Amino acid sequence: MITANVFDIKRFSINDGDGIRTTIFVKGCPLACKWCQNPEGLIPEIRLWYARNICVGCKSCIASCDYGALKWDDRGIAIDHTACTRCGKCVVACPTGAIRFDAREMSVAEALEEIEKDRPFYGTDGGVTLSGGECMASPAFSLGVLRGCRERGINAQIETSLYARPETVEAFSEAADKIIADIKLIDPARHWLATGVDNTLILSNIRHLAAKDANLLIRVPLIPGFTDDEENIRGIAKFVASLAKDIPVELLNFNPMCREKYESLRETYQFDPDQREIPQERVHALKEILTEHGLVAI
Ligand code: SF4
Ligand code: SF4
Repeated sequence: MITANVFDIKRFSINDGDGIRTTIFVKGCPLACKWCQNPEGLIPEIRLWYARNICVGCKSCIASCDYGALKWDDRGIAIDHTACTRCGKCVVACPTGAIRFDAREMSVAEALEEIEKDRPFYGTDGGVTLSGGECMASPAFSLGVLRGCRERGINAQIETSLYARPETVEAFSEAADKIIADIKLIDPARHWLATGVDNTLILSNIRHLAAKDANLLIRVPLIPGFTDDEENIRGIAKFVASLAKDIPVELLNFNPMCREKYESLRETYQFDPDQREIPQERVHALKEILTEHGLVAI
């Protein structure tokens, strides 16, 4: 049975493609962006997740663990993932749901069953979006879901970094109705520093998709101090305009909501706690760079 670890299913989503959509988030990503909005989606394996804001400090989870994988400190429950066997006893013992698994293994059939529940809401434009993590990192599952959607007449799109082998990208371009692809940084060295990988493969895959006239939307996440400078946006605009002027480019504003996730994971949050979205005037000015290059800016 083909499965993947799904860490979220967002229903009635209006920001992950056209119309009203069901977005399925698949765990595992080959990139490690310093600003990742879904850090729980980076590693493919299912792990324990702790939400301090709903923990009442009863320590029942610690008492239930036979492996000493949980401890209490000044930030609440600390999880030793190397000692945890994922037996699930602490999840059962927790009275508030503060400790839980961060994903569930799901088959293609189960995913399609979830999708079918939302079908009445899709209307003419909506449908399903596969996201992550990186949906191309679980190709058998993701292609199975995309093909299942097509058989059922449900529009299916993907959000992807396009950091994948050309043959994988080719298979997804055949199975998906639309590819929403990120370009985070145009400079290879800056891309490598911020995401952990070079962007040559990504740009080459975009070139290939543009040449075959795939239904493509380029997304640029505007991340303060990382991607939101004019030099980067101008470089991206120049690159996309050199492919085709009718590929729309969307500037996606920074979302500060993920800070709590970093606290739960006890990982470093790269931004000032007060960092907010980039002001609209600034976003507008960056969009003008795109339109100056003859592009459709969203
Ligand atoms: S899942 Fe099992 S091994 Fe892991 S922390 Fe909970 S009780 Fe301990
Ligand atoms: S059992 Fe749940 S509520 Fe109690 S200390 Fe553990 S995580 Fe917190």
